[in-house]
Amino acid sequence: MTHRAYIGVGSNQGDKQRNCRRAVKEIGKFPETRVGEVSSWFVTEPWGAASTEWYVNGIAAVDTGLEPAILLRHCQTVERKMGRPAERPRWADRVIDLDILFYDDRVLEGPELIIPHPELHRRRFVLAPLCEIAPELKHTLLGTSIRELLGQVEDDKRVRAMAGPGARETPLSPTVPMR
Ligand code: AMP
Repeated sequence: MTHRAYIGVGSNQGDKQRNCRRAVKEIGKFPETRVGEVSSWFVTEPWGAASTEWYVNGIAAVDTGLEPAILLRHCQTVERKMGRPAERPRWADRVIDLDILFYDDRVLEGPELIIPHPELHRRRFVLAPLCEIAPELKHTLLGTSIRELLGQVEDDKRVRAMAGPGARETPLSPTVPMR
């Protein structure tokens, strides 16, 4: 049986966009897995105090036969393969970060895996790209669409779709100055 998952992809080290693209390619190689829509890449201001290095973020929609824990394990293998250390402080810079945001309408609260991702509705850098590919998707626990969550979010961190092929207009105000 195939499940629909949304995976958040981010990088704030090295060639960030290339890292993100490579990660999506790697996700496409997981067993029983096909990558569907991929959002534009967004340049986003970092959360947390530990870094001032901006991120590139985007979202991949994935159809997979893998159960969530196995999907997470594959994502972590990609993170390690791409050079991310297994142990590092929270908010540390990262070559690649993969987060499972949703998995069908599954709710999980395990020590290793929380789905829906507990922070996604508070983060503009997740909601803006997710809104491009799944605006009507309802948050499993909140019952609110991604479009509505993006309209309500109080996050003041700056987020903007990157120019270039594949970039689409963000539903956010594009007036935010970028560094
Ligand atoms: P982070 O530093 O944000 O990448 O967090 C990594 C840790 O979050 C890993 O140890 C995962 O076990 C845990 N985790 C919990 N829920 C999720 C999720 N939905 N997606 C990815 N990692 C998760």
